[in-house]
Amino acid sequence: MAVWWVNQGSTFAASVKQELLWSPDSAVPSHWRHMREVQVGDLVIHYAQGVRALGVVIADARGWPRPKGFNSDWDDAGLMVRVDYRVFDDPIPLAEMPVELRTDQIFEGPFNKNHGVKQGYLWAATTEIYDWVLERVGGPAPAAADGSSGGGSTGPGQPEGQTHHYSGTVDVVFEGVARGEQAALRRFLFGTATVAECAVCGRLLPVSLLRAAHIKRRSACSDDERRDFRAVAMPACVLGCDALFELGWISVDGAGVVVAVGELSGDAEAARALLIGRTCKAFSDWTAPHFAWHLSKASDSGLSPELVAMALPEGAGSPEVELAR
Ligand SMILES: [Zn+2]
Repeated sequence: MAVWWVNQGSTFAASVKQELLWSPDSAVPSHWRHMREVQVGDLVIHYAQGVRALGVVIADARGWPRPKGFNSDWDDAGLMVRVDYRVFDDPIPLAEMPVELRTDQIFEGPFNKNHGVKQGYLWAATTEIYDWVLERVGGPAPAAADGSSGGGSTGPGQPEGQTHHYSGTVDVVFEGVARGEQAALRRFLFGTATVAECAVCGRLLPVSLLRAAHIKRRSACSDDERRDFRAVAMPACVLGCDALFELGWISVDGAGVVVAVGELSGDAEAARALLIGRTCKAFSDWTAPHFAWHLSKASDSGLSPELVAMALPEGAGSPEVELAR
């Protein structure tokens, strides 16, 4: 998990609205090359005349046309990284940040020798800087999460939809509440996007064909685990990946690689074979323990009855909702 510093200048508002980072796709200079190094789960400090937001990367870089609100002098083609923003009410002036944090000794970092911010888009930062900002704005998941993107549903039960930590009730009245959690989880994974990437097969699909699939079975998760959206779920398509994963025919190993579990034959094996060896885009320091749980469950018992039960009841709603019984 890396921490990044992004200088967004006049593109900040447009970036928040569209829930992304974007730059031309180039290996030179390094501050653009960094876009290729960003991974799901990385943390972002957003700077635009002050520190304006913290973010969590929710999808790796992919080719993307220049978004609205970006300098039209730049190429039309570039790289986009999907970010879940938490925008502050007021920017934090750079001068408030302790000078020892603003050092030019950070490799490919954002600061010059005068402790000011360098030109350039995306720079490496440190957890010390991130933690200082977090502390300065008063800890995780305030009620003042960015409310600017009302694109999705704004129903009850998802006041924290913009953060990775869901503070609504998850366990009182299962059906409605699990749906609230599920809606917030989808919002975390997909933002306002209409198209997103399946973490297993990598296909870009309408979000209606993607599930917010729990990596570790929801009923096996502690309350805290259920609330940590960075760790608990991944986008998985209903065109095969979601079912193969939930049934335990595929899992993800400790290196983040999709592996086969158990024997399939014929067309089912052919479909599965297309996925084996791919890098799961949802693999991160946060999700790794949950994938380890899934792999051990799938491997221990082959086609585990628990996993089968998890995937079967789909009629009334998401598997997550059904599982909550
Ligand atoms: Zn898929």
